[in-house]
Amino acid sequence: MAISLLRSIRFRLTFWYALTLAVIMAASALFSYHYFSKTMRQQIDEDLLNIADQIGSAYTRQNGGPFDCDQLQTHIHQGNWDAYILLRGNNLRAECASDNLLAGDLEFGPVAMQQVRWLSHHFETVEIDGDMQLRLLSAPLKQHGNLVGVVQVARNLGLLQQTLGELRLIYLLIGPFALFWLCLGGWLLSDQLVAPVIEVTAAAREINAENLLRRLPSTGHHDELGQMVTTFNQMLDRLESAFRRVRQFSGDASHELRTPLTILRGETEVTMRWAKTPEEFRDMLHSNLEEIDRMERIIENLLLLAKSESGELTLEIREFNLSDLVQALYLQGRTLGEAKRISVSLRVGIEEEMPIRGDELRLRQLFLNLIANGIKYTPEGGKLELALLREGAMARVDVTDTGIGIPIEAQPYVFDRFYRVDKARNRMDGGSGLGLSIVKSIAVAHGGQISVHSTPGRGSTFTVLLPIGGPPDESNPPAIIS
Ligand code: ADP
Repeated sequence: MAISLLRSIRFRLTFWYALTLAVIMAASALFSYHYFSKTMRQQIDEDLLNIADQIGSAYTRQNGGPFDCDQLQTHIHQGNWDAYILLRGNNLRAECASDNLLAGDLEFGPVAMQQVRWLSHHFETVEIDGDMQLRLLSAPLKQHGNLVGVVQVARNLGLLQQTLGELRLIYLLIGPFALFWLCLGGWLLSDQLVAPVIEVTAAAREINAENLLRRLPSTGHHDELGQMVTTFNQMLDRLESAFRRVRQFSGDASHELRTPLTILRGETEVTMRWAKTPEEFRDMLHSNLEEIDRMERIIENLLLLAKSESGELTLEIREFNLSDLVQALYLQGRTLGEAKRISVSLRVGIEEEMPIRGDELRLRQLFLNLIANGIKYTPEGGKLELALLREGAMARVDVTDTGIGIPIEAQPYVFDRFYRVDKARNRMDGGSGLGLSIVKSIAVAHGGQISVHSTPGRGSTFTVLLPIGGPPDESNPPAIIS
C-alpha cells in the first residue's frame, strides 16, 4: 500500500522543518534590519547633537554679538564635520552657512521654530532636491537663558539608505537560496530517518500466519525505532507460540476424536458383514455406545478447557465446608479403590472444620480426577492417602498414591492438554490426557495452584493450594493458558 507523497512522514517532516526555519529566518532578518537601521539613525542624531553642542559652546565663548562666519568655517574644517551647518541670528534669519550648503539655507518649519523658541532642540527628516533625504537638527543658541540664535545641523541620509537597501537585497537573495539548501538538507535527513521505517514496514508486510517464524531486521540502534522493532518481534514470538499451541491443540483434538470414530466405523462394518444374531448386533451397539460416551467426554472436557482459557469459566462461588467435601471424597475414593483392593485413607491436619469460598462442584471434579488418577496408576493392593492441611491463608489438599509414579522428564508436562506419559496404555484405560489440564484450570480459576512430586516406581503426590477466602476477583476468574 503506497503512501502519497503529501501524506508521507518524510514530506511532513521536511515541510514543518522548512516552515519553522523560514519563520525563524524571516523574524531574525526583520529584527536585525530594524535594529541596524535604528542604531544607525541614533548614531547620526548623536553626531548632529554633538556638532550643534560644539558650535553652541564656541558661540558662547564669543560672548554674544553677531556671528563670525569665517570662524564657523574654521570650526567645520577643524572638526572635519561632514555635515551641512547653518546659523540663524535671534531674528531667526539665516546668517552663516557651511560651504557645502549650496542653497545657503535649510528648512526651518513652524514646529522646529516653536521648539527652538521653547529652548529645546528638534529633529526631523526632510527632503531636498527631490529625492535626497536629510536628517536635520535645529537647536537653540542660548545666552543667559535667552534665545540668541539657532544652529541647524544636517546630514545626508543617502549613505544609510543605500546601506539599508543593500541589506534588504542581500536578505531577499540569500534567504530563498539558504532556505532551498536547508530544505534539501532536511529532505535528505528525513530520508535517513524514514528509511528504516520503510524497511521495517516492508518486512512486516511479508509476515503472515504461514511464516510467523520471520522476524523484523534489527535497526542496530537503541532508539525509538529499535524499541519498536524489539517490541514487534516480542509480539511475534507470543503470536507464534499461541499459533503453535492452537495448531497442536486442533491436531491433538482431531486425533483424539478420530480414534473412537475409527473404532466405531470398524466395529460397525465388521458387524454388518459378519454378525448374524441379534446378540452380536446388541454387542456392537453396546461397544459403539462406549465409544460415543468417550467422544462425549472428550468434547465436554475440551469445551470446559476452552471456556477456562477464554476466561468464560463461570464459577458458582459460595461458602462451603472443605472438610466435609474431603470426607465425602474419601468415602467415594474407598468405593473406587475397592475393585483394585487399594486402601484409601484420610489424614486431617486441622483442628476445626475448614469453611472455604469456592465452586464446590468444580472442586469436587478436581479432587475426583486426582483420586481417579491415583487409583488408575496404582497397582492392585496399593495405597492412596487424602490429606487436608492449612498453609496460612491457603487450604492444602494432598493426594498421595503408591503407584507407578511419573518420570522426572515427564513431570513438567503432565498438566498440558493431551499429554500422556504412556500413550498406548492410557488410551486403553480410557484416558485422553485432558484430566490434569482440567484440574489445573479449576485450581487456577480459584486463584490457587497445583504441583506434583513423584518418584517413578514409588508413587506420586499431587498438592492443591486454594485460597480460603475464594478467588481474588470472583466476578472475573483468571483465564489459564497451558
Ligand atoms: P489421563 O486421562 O491420560 O489420565 P491426565 O491429564 O489425567 O490424563 O494425566 C496425564 C498423564 O499424567 C497420564 O497420562 C499419566 O501418564 C500421568 N499421571 C497422572 N496422574 C498420575 C498418577 N497419579 N500416577 C502416575 N502417573 C500419573
